[in-house]
Amino acid sequence: MTAVRSHGRSHGLRKPLFASARSPKLVLMEAQLLAWFSQNGRDLPWRHTRDPYAILVSKVMLQQTQVERVEPRYRRWLERWPTVGALAAAAVADVIREWQGLGYNRRAVSLHQAAQRVAADGWPADLTELPGVGRYTADAVRRFALGQAVLPVDTNVRRVQERTGYDFDPACAAALMDLGATVCIARVPRCGACPLSEGCPSRGRRYEPLRRQSRFEGSFRQRRARTLGLLVEGPRPLEQLDADAVASLRADGLVAVYESIAQLPAA
Ligand code: SF4
Repeated sequence: MTAVRSHGRSHGLRKPLFASARSPKLVLMEAQLLAWFSQNGRDLPWRHTRDPYAILVSKVMLQQTQVERVEPRYRRWLERWPTVGALAAAAVADVIREWQGLGYNRRAVSLHQAAQRVAADGWPADLTELPGVGRYTADAVRRFALGQAVLPVDTNVRRVQERTGYDFDPACAAALMDLGATVCIARVPRCGACPLSEGCPSRGRRYEPLRRQSRFEGSFRQRRARTLGLLVEGPRPLEQLDADAVASLRADGLVAVYESIAQLPAA
């Protein structure tokens, strides 16, 4: 199977020296990885569907929010808007309200716009044409919904590839994600519990702490979130609000202003 590769942002890890494709050693490691996954893989709700819309919702939510927080919100979202057409027909204000608590609210508006585009024109051949859909998200939909031979490379997958030096088959995508999330973790990988440890040149290594996400407390993100939270409750006069936060939220399509009153967008 020929894999279509995606190349995302570097995370400062060792550059991979990929072993030659499909070597017997790689085939053995993939078998060990998949055997481990069958016993240890996470049972996540988006792994029970091949609906591109549901996969897209999960991947957009997971872009910057942890799995544990996403899981119940994903279920609720799919109950409320079970199809791409249902989401496309929803009022954007309702979509923004439903997104509250997941953070990075711009994703809600983009997801709504993507649903409208798909409802009107169908799924594009190049999914990155959809608002808010980057290379990884597009490849994840292609792999998990459409069954295409593409390996979606997120932070976890890239870490395992770089540490092992192997370019795994797309069939290993979910296994690589779980291995990177639970065993081959960023600073102190749990090599003793790793199915790849025998053939891994990085076994036993320790890594420097990654750059932390900037603090939310006291940040402009917090001011935006607080302002949006007020407007989720109802319209407010501009003079009662943080002007910079309102301007930024307006630029992202999260807030509209009519006659000095700020509110969630009407359409
Ligand atoms: S042996 Fe250690 S470094 Fe190598 S893939 Fe497994 S957990 Fe990661």
